[in-house]
Amino acid sequence: MAKVVCVLYPDPVDGYPKSYARPDIPRVEKYPDGQTTPSPEKIDFTPGALLGSVSGELGLRKFLEAQGHTFVVTSDKDGTNSVFEKELPGADIVISQPFWPAYLTRERIAKAPKLKLAITAGIGSDHVDLQSAIDRKITVAEVTYSNSISVSEHVVMMILSLVRNYIPSYEWVIKGGWNIADCVSRSYDLEGMHVGTVAAGCIGTAVLRRLKPFDVKLHYTDRHRLPAAVERELNVTYHPDAESMVKECDVVSIHCPLYPGTENLFNDALISKMKRGAYLINTARGKICDRDAIVRALKSGQLAGYAGDVWFPQPAPKDHPWRTMPHHGMTPHVSGTSLSAQARYAAGVREILECWFSKRPIRNEYLIVDGGKLAGAGAHSYSAGDATGGSEQAARYKS
Ligand code: NDP
Repeated sequence: MAKVVCVLYPDPVDGYPKSYARPDIPRVEKYPDGQTTPSPEKIDFTPGALLGSVSGELGLRKFLEAQGHTFVVTSDKDGTNSVFEKELPGADIVISQPFWPAYLTRERIAKAPKLKLAITAGIGSDHVDLQSAIDRKITVAEVTYSNSISVSEHVVMMILSLVRNYIPSYEWVIKGGWNIADCVSRSYDLEGMHVGTVAAGCIGTAVLRRLKPFDVKLHYTDRHRLPAAVERELNVTYHPDAESMVKECDVVSIHCPLYPGTENLFNDALISKMKRGAYLINTARGKICDRDAIVRALKSGQLAGYAGDVWFPQPAPKDHPWRTMPHHGMTPHVSGTSLSAQARYAAGVREILECWFSKRPIRNEYLIVDGGKLAGAGAHSYSAGDATGGSEQAARYKS
């Protein structure tokens, strides 16, 4: 019997919800690429319920305990005295979410001799030292596509909110003011701007598709080029690298995974190549941007705005400079964990576990590492290596 250790974000400060704003969520059966949404044999939760926090338990307890497995759920993930670290020595399977990541560093993997499977409830497994997982032959799997559309919607919201200067205008209302000139002196139309995405995978392509009706000029860069028919349909210009793309763009949105090759991609040098007054959106991973270079660029006016929901580490310490830098539209890491997304990734985790326990293959699309090498989506989109360095700083949030 397996011990499954699951790290989820804490419940709402007012307690686990007793009711919801909407009675249900739309049923989505297929993703835009034709792949079916997760198809476990059964689910033990109501789609639309809060599943991603500790009391939601991803809807897994009944399923796991009925088979005799031990299921530990905690949000206490950082520091050597955390519940997570104390449970690691007996863990066969770890489940974690990028929103509240249980960083699985080389040191922590060494403390977990029985660990065989690390599941990401969502997309993006950079919180696992993938090199160590390769070396230790730990399978790493995530629920590909489960929240890609959720993120793309969030990105459109963030682009519009920065370009239109929505957040400061909203704040004038809350303050009891009617200061129109203050609101509009940084407000523009998106129409006619050049908008580019770094990567055109599930999220990047969905962002391009959603922005096309705004009559913008679209650009992208990626390691693999989109099919010519898709480029024509979106009327999107391909660039061989980020540098050649950012020179032409008024808005840049980042959608590549974090691995050593993309860490600090947006540093002083690359930001200096951007148009003055450009907007930068990052819902991929905080570490893809050099933290202090972003602050400098906002202060100097090189960037007109920065928005996103990803930080490093997570949770961000209370003194993280992105909380207080000018002209930002940051949220905590929420874009991929709407109630709609949770229903899909909870079902996806259940599907992965059902496959694992019955020794059936996990969908190839879900695999990041398997059999001691990058596999599935991981082989396509990642490079081997470790991007967890510095994650121990997440413990500072507690203090
Ligand atoms: P995909 O795997 O579909 O797409 C990733 C794309 O990035 C691939 O097309 C890949 O190229 C491309 N890529 C890799 N390296 C580079 C590079 N150096 N330059 C340009 N492109 C590159 O993943 P998703 O679109 O679903 O998700 C992307 C990322 O978004 C995730 O890895 C995760 O970090 C983040 N994410 C954030 C969420 C949130 O809540 N904020 C939720 C979900 C994901 P190719 O495969 O062609 O080599």
